[in-house]
Amino acid sequence: MDRRRRRVSQQSKNAKHAQWLKLDRRKELGSIADRYPSIKAIEMKLSFLDPNDILKDKEHRRLTPESSAVVEVNCNSHECVGGGFDLTSEIKRIVEESRAEASGSKVCEGWQDRERIGKHRCHCHLDYRIECTYDLK
Ligand SMILES: [Zn+2]
Repeated sequence: MDRRRRRVSQQSKNAKHAQWLKLDRRKELGSIADRYPSIKAIEMKLSFLDPNDILKDKEHRRLTPESSAVVEVNCNSHECVGGGFDLTSEIKRIVEESRAEASGSKVCEGWQDRERIGKHRCHCHLDYRIECTYDLK
């Protein structure tokens, strides 16, 4: 194998590894029911804003006990490369504190578009409001 082909195969190996890590994380954390047995439902109200704080889109998502405990939201910018918002640890904290609701904001750390990889971050925002319903048995 020449040097160039070896590098390509290394890159695809890395991509596969990243994919594998993602799957592994889902498997390890399991479902909401596995992680947080007291949760009946989680409502997520999501607002997507561009870097100038202009509202681009809104979304309402409902997680049930069957949903994965890994909660990832795609970036709203179609050009964005490698971005997105991970709410897994936010949800963990809310449930651990037995809170009914919490809200906050996250900034996308992906790249603005393919031409600007390594140069310009996406910097879209996600404003979220998370409401948890507990099963009080
Ligand atoms: Zn983004």
